[in-house]
Amino acid sequence: MLADFFDSMVQLITRTSTDLPPDVRAAMGTALATEAPATRAGQALTIIAQNIDQAESCEGPICQDTGMPTFEVRVPVGANQMWMKEQIRGAIAEATKRGKLRPNSVDSITGENSGNNLGPGTPIVHFEQWEKNEIEVKLILKGGGCENTNAQYALPVDLDHLGRADRNLDGVRRCILHAVWKAQGKGCSPGAVGVCIGGDRTSGYLHAKEQLFRTLDDTNADPRLAAVEDAVMEAANQLTVGPMGFGGKTSLIGCKIGALNRLPASFFVSVAYDCWAFRRLGVTLDASSGAIASWLYRDGDRRSAPMLTPEQLAAGFPRTGREIRLQAPITDEQIRSLKVGDVVLVSGRMYTGRDAVHAHLMKHEPPVDLRGAVLYHCGPVVVKEADGGWKVTAAGPTTSIREEPYQADILERYGVRVVIGKGGMGAKTLAGLKQSGGVYLNGVGGAAQFYARCIDRVTGVSLLEFGTPEAMWHLDVTDFPAIVTMDAHGNSLHKEIESASGDLLHAVGG
Ligand code: SF4
Repeated sequence: MLADFFDSMVQLITRTSTDLPPDVRAAMGTALATEAPATRAGQALTIIAQNIDQAESCEGPICQDTGMPTFEVRVPVGANQMWMKEQIRGAIAEATKRGKLRPNSVDSITGENSGNNLGPGTPIVHFEQWEKNEIEVKLILKGGGCENTNAQYALPVDLDHLGRADRNLDGVRRCILHAVWKAQGKGCSPGAVGVCIGGDRTSGYLHAKEQLFRTLDDTNADPRLAAVEDAVMEAANQLTVGPMGFGGKTSLIGCKIGALNRLPASFFVSVAYDCWAFRRLGVTLDASSGAIASWLYRDGDRRSAPMLTPEQLAAGFPRTGREIRLQAPITDEQIRSLKVGDVVLVSGRMYTGRDAVHAHLMKHEPPVDLRGAVLYHCGPVVVKEADGGWKVTAAGPTTSIREEPYQADILERYGVRVVIGKGGMGAKTLAGLKQSGGVYLNGVGGAAQFYARCIDRVTGVSLLEFGTPEAMWHLDVTDFPAIVTMDAHGNSLHKEIESASGDLLHAVGG
């Protein structure tokens, strides 16, 4: 058997989770260069750049959501695919144990986390044979926040702000722009889209995701599709959705389109949205040993060029002097003084809570006193230390809109004052914030390393039976930066930007 195959897979998984490929770094560097540092977009992109460098230097996950591992494997004729699949599964479990992947595989019936990223459908491994006498393995780690913003259109269709999308390439262009606009900041923009024209509903999504294995800077071999890709990039970056949906010049860093034949009655456009934390790498392996012969998407084994200079990295969060300090527990007066657009630095105790905690709190009293508390929508990567304590190694915000059915009730019942997450929340929460006196703060999605460094210590954990991502972690933090995007006076930056970008969508895309 291939003696080095297992180690090669652990290396591939580790590097994919911790080190962004050069083409994505270049696109994010360009985005950073176009924004003034003291703007919301500039601050968000600087945090992202710091996060990318921090992840690489400590070999920690770039984002706490290490995504659905999807492998595309090409093997010589006669290779034992069953054995390789078992080795890949073993490597996934090993990388999870080492804290390079968060336990992310959840039983859909019971809600139980398998703890090792293994389970029905996890990981996804596709094999294909080829004539070469080498093995190629490509891996993409695509998280839940961006996966939830995928979109599929059945043409012809009427689209908000864009009118009718017909069964032609102009209709395809409209659908892609619509998907980018709909995503706003929920998928941690600026993101990239893989698109499939045609196929059926299943093959369309698969082919769309496969487009994400192209590099961001390549040119489509089909000039008709290349023209659509260019048109989408130009229009999407005029929408001013910006990083995290805060407003700004870069909303999309890549558009990659493929096409499959379709049934005469069907015309699907499937859009796979990936976030800025676009983790995709690959290797070729020696077919006799399984050792890594070369890396794909990167310059061999050389260290990635940093995003920032050492001075910029050491400078930390780029402050303007207008930041507002909040110390938890937070008073009603402090909350009511905050307004949309304020940048705040939170210190003191915060509690994590995401899907399972919110559902639990609808039926049970909270395990801690939440009056005046900060509730952080986050599923961190946490490792147990030798002394029995816990250490958070990655802790960015998760997509908040999933908690929309619960949030207003939790604010009212338990006196939570501050909710931190990403992507914004809806009308029910906005009304709840006004009624109960609370604010919603938008962190920088995916900045898991940056935010982990704002955590001084883990002081406790409740509801650990939900698994580490879903448990309620008690964290002491210092100067945790975020932006007020929904205030206690009924204002929402998300609503404003969605509306303004909708008008622009009509102007540039219709
Ligand atoms: S960067 Fe955002 S969308 Fe991407 S995996 Fe992380 S949390 Fe999810």
